[in-house]
Amino acid sequence: MTVFLKLLFRNRLAAMGAVVLGAILFLVLITPILPLLDPDTTATADRFKRPFTDGHLLGTDHLGRDLFSRLLHGTRLSLAIGIAAALIAATIGSAIGIVAGYFGGRIDNVIMRGVDMLMAFPYILLALAIVAALGPGLMNALIAVSAVNVPFFARNIRGITVGLAGREFIDAARLAGMGHTRIILTELLPNVLPVIVIAMSTTVGWMILETAGLSFLGLGSQPPQADLGSMLGEARSAMISHPHTSIVPGVMIFLIVMSINLLGDGVRDALDPRLRSGALSRPRATTLVERQGDIPAATDDLLAIQELETQFNVGGRIYRAVGGVSLAVKPGECLGVIGESGSGKSVTALSVMGLVASPPGVITGGAVRFQGEDLIGAPYETLRQKRGDRVAYIFQDPLSTLHPLYRIGQQLAEAIQSHHKISPAEARSRAIQLLKDVRIPNAEARVDNFPHEMSGGMRQRVGIAMALANEPDVIIADEPTTALDVTVQAQILSLLDDLRRDRGLAIIFITHDFGVVAQLCDRVAVMYAGRIVEEGPTKAVLDTPAHPYTKRLIACVPELGGGRRELAAIPGLPPVVDNLPRGCAFAPRCDKAQDDCTAGEVTLQGSAPRAVRCLHPEEAV
Ligand code: ADP
Ligand code: MG
Repeated sequence: MTVFLKLLFRNRLAAMGAVVLGAILFLVLITPILPLLDPDTTATADRFKRPFTDGHLLGTDHLGRDLFSRLLHGTRLSLAIGIAAALIAATIGSAIGIVAGYFGGRIDNVIMRGVDMLMAFPYILLALAIVAALGPGLMNALIAVSAVNVPFFARNIRGITVGLAGREFIDAARLAGMGHTRIILTELLPNVLPVIVIAMSTTVGWMILETAGLSFLGLGSQPPQADLGSMLGEARSAMISHPHTSIVPGVMIFLIVMSINLLGDGVRDALDPRLRSGALSRPRATTLVERQGDIPAATDDLLAIQELETQFNVGGRIYRAVGGVSLAVKPGECLGVIGESGSGKSVTALSVMGLVASPPGVITGGAVRFQGEDLIGAPYETLRQKRGDRVAYIFQDPLSTLHPLYRIGQQLAEAIQSHHKISPAEARSRAIQLLKDVRIPNAEARVDNFPHEMSGGMRQRVGIAMALANEPDVIIADEPTTALDVTVQAQILSLLDDLRRDRGLAIIFITHDFGVVAQLCDRVAVMYAGRIVEEGPTKAVLDTPAHPYTKRLIACVPELGGGRRELAAIPGLPPVVDNLPRGCAFAPRCDKAQDDCTAGEVTLQGSAPRAVRCLHPEEAV
């Protein structure tokens, strides 16, 4: 709640709206106990008194009634009717929307066609028709305004409900034997409630205006009762001669509607979870770069990540996800990057092509050189040309990276066509060839499949085919086999291995599985809390791990045929990167830690390609 209020008040306009609306609400709430003149007492002698004259703060109207008193009583009535109409319309409309969206099929059809019919009338005409049928009066105006707004809520909420009703957690609730009412009340309603609140906060303003409109036409509140609309209506004939009688209710309507709308916008923004996490809703096309310090010099590697530092600025805290990481690959080489979840592997990988979401991500130091050219801070167009063409990514979850509504072939063709001009026929035959390359059986038929028609392993192969589409020089694979079963994983790994041998492809392979590294990688780098703690040729690191962390990680891998042994787990949890300890970040979990480990910076030591960031290594390197 406090987070919500803080976000809300960070928006100046919303805060202003809240203050104005709060003041008005306070005034109308205490109106009955204020020492005001009677709003309906006429005094013909005192007609059209100007504001600030003898006891009439805002003057008097055409019947000599005190305008200030009428204004407060009228506002009270208008707000009450507007808010009541919004509540009624939201309740009925949402109920209709939820029922239609949840049950679907014929029920949905019948209900929504009815709603469509209501929506087909211009709504002020519809409101007029309803009041004409029921007779003028405030209560009938309330009914009319609620009724014309029901379809708006019904349509909105139905759309949201249809999306939710197909989700797994609703299926799970059904499987658990819950009844429809229970599912609607406990599973659906909490999810649509924020939307209802937002829709309401943005429509109360209209409803107040609509009620005022009906009263203005003499169909709402009846004389002598004052509401804002009827005050305006009565003042119409004196608009030129005595403008204050129109200005007073007019300004009040303006203030109310304006403040409600500003506040409504603020509420909508503050309820958006992306805002709550500190990320503003407008991500940039490339990661923000604020580099301090020197930029490392070029090397002759194909892709070199040099002293890379990437951090997230979230609500005043700084999370140093990557703290000075250096990695490099040559053509045809496979480099493994391994570490526990949260050690900064993905952020390192995404920083290469400026794909870290910004805000909150910022690259604060280092360089990423592709064939010697620094990509950090490079113009968007430079990065765009290389993304997917020279440097391609394979992500963990193929279902979320493939578009559900396009055929596989179209998506492969698009990957090629965004970088090279080729004809549709060429693109198709190229797509088929790519599917064959990643050993998808019956590629000619599969090319016309949708993602949902393929198995997880096949989709991941499509992901790899897409990465290969433009014959890139480097592939960065971020846990590409984690979601797959072991047999499919083995096939994918051997496929990647063949590809790098045949095409001289350089691969950066991110994983948390030493078994995978052993199968595929020439060299391996071990990451912990955003830094490399050990690196070297795979065999050397596996046989003689130098860093205590690496040794513990390897001990976590079960061995087939190794007999029964207790699998070691590493005690404790990786540190949160917003408050890293001084010195070695692993020291609190390390059984070999000594006082000097936390005394100062621990550097990478050793002779290339072997290095370890430890003062008391298991093995000297
Ligand atoms: P992994 O090694 O599992 O791939 P990541 O690179 O995804 O780990 O994350 C590294 C660290 O960065 C984690 O501590 C994570 O909490 C933090 N992090 C990642 N993305 C964000 C974000 N958008 N906002 C704040 N922190 C983030
Ligand atoms: Mg990751």
